[in-house]
Amino acid sequence: MTAINIEMKIFKSSTILIVILLILMVAYYLILQNYKAHDTNNMPTDAHNDTLVHKKQINNKVSIDTIVSVDFLTGKFNPAKDTSFTLVDPEYGGRSDMYLLKDTYKAFIKMFYAAQHDGVKLYIISATRNFVYQKSIWEQKWNGSKLVEGKNLATSVKDPVKRAEIILKYSSMPATSRHHWGTDVDLNSMDDKYFSTTEGKIVYNWLCANASKYGFCHPFNSKNERSSGYEEEKWHWSYMPLSRIFLNQYKNKVTYANITGFSGCETALKLEVIKNYVLSINSECK
Ligand SMILES: [Zn+2]
Repeated sequence: MTAINIEMKIFKSSTILIVILLILMVAYYLILQNYKAHDTNNMPTDAHNDTLVHKKQINNKVSIDTIVSVDFLTGKFNPAKDTSFTLVDPEYGGRSDMYLLKDTYKAFIKMFYAAQHDGVKLYIISATRNFVYQKSIWEQKWNGSKLVEGKNLATSVKDPVKRAEIILKYSSMPATSRHHWGTDVDLNSMDDKYFSTTEGKIVYNWLCANASKYGFCHPFNSKNERSSGYEEEKWHWSYMPLSRIFLNQYKNKVTYANITGFSGCETALKLEVIKNYVLSINSECK
């Protein structure tokens, strides 16, 4: 074998090695890019972003692309420390410590002034209630420290399922309340009698005629319109552009394993509270 032949062989081998190396580098780069894209798609947003509402402008229409966690949907966060939420000015409400998602709040203010223009006074008496807050309401009723229908349920209703059913007429189980989402408000009075007064009737009729113009709907409408769920709540209104999305995400993400951590939580599955309460709302709010 001549020296030239040996050199040619070495040259050919080196070329093959370089080509193999290049192929490997390109393959590595492609795998890395694919991994990054995949990672970004599945990446949970950081603690704050988890509850943020992201808006996208597509073809001049605002579409809302919302990423929310199970923790958000089940109220496991503190609205006072979350930048998606804002404090409700006492001008619009009966208390100084209420929070709403910023978009809900903006829509409510528009509705508030429209109502005021028509001589109707709206005021928020309850807004966002997180898991801890709802747990305290639920457990006071569960353990009898707050009477329900004039009764101490801890002593008068021993059967846990029956006790839960009575509380569920007007109060959600923690982790199942629409009030967790920053989209729902209770207006003016949580007493049905108020809505039988002249003022209450005017307020309710105004809301029924106008609330939808501002994005609000009435999830707990007459029981005649729903097969199950909470009693009618004329005071409860929901900012549908967001709550509809959250309801949909709730349906897909939340399971009974997420509805725990409070007295009587074992009744959640027996009563199928997701199907019979969370999803059993006015069809116009879905
Ligand atoms: Zn309510």
